[in-house]
Amino acid sequence: MPVRSCVACRKRRETRELMLFVALPDGKIWISGSTPRPDGRGASCCKSETCVKKLEGQPARLCRALRQSGLRTSNLLDMARAQHDLD
Ligand SMILES: [Zn+2]
Repeated sequence: MPVRSCVACRKRRETRELMLFVALPDGKIWISGSTPRPDGRGASCCKSETCVKKLEGQPARLCRALRQSGLRTSNLLDMARAQHDLD
């Protein structure tokens, strides 16, 4: 099973325990779940409210990981909850 690091807490986990974020050209963030993965750099995050809240409050962290400026993270937690059962 492949292993990735969470972009929020840096803990290494198997990919099935993580969700994936991809930056879209319009500054929105795609979250793994119901729709096919778009092209672009991805960042993994624990399925954890703590980790998502951290990214929501620190957009620069996600911008750095995804190498795109101006990402909008204000509704990240709600978006993540809609796709995954968060701890
Ligand atoms: Zn994490």
